[in-house]
Amino acid sequence: MDNARNFYINGKWTAPLDGRDFDVINPSTEEVATTISLGGAADTDAAVAAAKAAFPIWSASSKAERLELMETILDVYMRRSDEMGATISEEMGAPIDMSKVQQSGTGSFHLKAFIQSLKEFEFEGPLRAGEEDTHIIHEPIGVCALITPWNWPMNQITLKVIPALATGCTMVLKPSEQSPLSGILFSEIMHEAGAPAGVYNMVNGDGVGVGSQLSSHKDVDMVSFTGSTRAGRAITIAAADTIKRVSLELGGKGANLVFADADPKAVKQGIIRCMNNTGQSCNAPTRMLVERSRYDEAVEQAKAAAEATTVNSASEEGRHIGPLVSEMQFNKVQDLIQKGIDEGAKLIAGGVGRPDGLNRGFYTRPTVFADCNNDMTVMREEIFGPVLAMMPFDTEEEAIAIANDTDYGLTNYVQTSDPERARRVARQLRSGMVDMNGKGRGAGSPFGGMKQSGNGREGGKWGLDEFLEVKAIGGWPVE
Ligand code: NAD
Repeated sequence: MDNARNFYINGKWTAPLDGRDFDVINPSTEEVATTISLGGAADTDAAVAAAKAAFPIWSASSKAERLELMETILDVYMRRSDEMGATISEEMGAPIDMSKVQQSGTGSFHLKAFIQSLKEFEFEGPLRAGEEDTHIIHEPIGVCALITPWNWPMNQITLKVIPALATGCTMVLKPSEQSPLSGILFSEIMHEAGAPAGVYNMVNGDGVGVGSQLSSHKDVDMVSFTGSTRAGRAITIAAADTIKRVSLELGGKGANLVFADADPKAVKQGIIRCMNNTGQSCNAPTRMLVERSRYDEAVEQAKAAAEATTVNSASEEGRHIGPLVSEMQFNKVQDLIQKGIDEGAKLIAGGVGRPDGLNRGFYTRPTVFADCNNDMTVMREEIFGPVLAMMPFDTEEEAIAIANDTDYGLTNYVQTSDPERARRVARQLRSGMVDMNGKGRGAGSPFGGMKQSGNGREGGKWGLDEFLEVKAIGGWPVE
């Protein structure tokens, strides 16, 4: 990759001022994929200065100009979509076919949805009919630091860059150091699409370096962060001195409530959803709660579905799951599987160690624990690997109580054929999202969590609101 060691600042690819080398490891082979640069304070300052200088002009751009740029980005993105899928597959281990469709596809999906949302968005208007002399204006917040994780890299990058652009903000993106290659490719797309100099900047770096420099920078007005609850806490503290707006999309521990009247395929589909992306999704349904009359059958179905989940290199075509992203993540997941065994959860599929025949690469066995209780570590901690924890429940109230007994509140899942119950349960679950009976949410829906899953909402109208200040003006001259 030509620009691997460079940053994208003020419309140009530039060599680091304060960089050091960092090897990006291909998790399927444990070999170095590419060496990139991690920046330092001088690089962060240069990128923020470029964004600050570009703000007066971009913030005054029209909706039509922004839409035109977004349409061009979409065109270039579509043309380079397969390249994006291959890049993500190499850097973070998503299997190639899945990566080209799901990983890369999230980018064009969000671009299209934001184009629609921007067309519909009203930036200003009267407080209410009959009170036209009070005028409300939505203005871009300013220079935004966008800090993203490695698990769905293009999903996260487009959920931040595109609404920032659409609202007239300027920005510095810091992609995850585990998945920087897709961020570099995305910057090439932005350049090719003709983003004005300084509006969009990208610096690679780690959390303690560029990440915390951006979070505490006096000229950054907002940090939009997706990643771990641990880093979200550190960023909030770093941003406090300058009273920045901090928008957080953090971890999750989704419960999947399977009632006795659920579709017969619900358990198998729950396993597929949990294992997708090797379990590395913040909204994965990792706790399966099953009504007792169907529990034994569900345990058998879960065991069969986990054992049918094949594991292979990300470069192989076909439907399988790939490795975990890194050695650190591999060791963490191994420790948590061992902890499940030590704390007395019943191991019914998978376990510690690599799958047979895969001795190199961060491969993990698809694992299911049954007969868990809600105090066990496997029920409480976000494992971020292909690991499901199951437990039975007797009543609807109990199922809701178990689902809500967590520090997280991102996505919960409900499987039932009773529409009354579906509505009742969805209302009582303490999470930003509820997916029922295998149906997704429409394009432009808000994505975000309650409790320690964060405070932000990305996507659609809500994703635009995140990047806007609201100004109320009295005495507005009315014609
Ligand atoms: P992470 O928190 O380690 O890193 C995320 C990003 O933050 C990276 O770019 C990293 O360099 C940076 N970072 C780390 N420490 C920092 C600090 N102190 N200051 C500033 N920046 C810092 O997370 P990860 O391991 O890359 O991603 C996995 C986590 O992301 C999981 O917890 C997952 O649930 C969460 N996630 C949440 C959502 C969501 O929308 N809620 C989506 C995807 C992933």
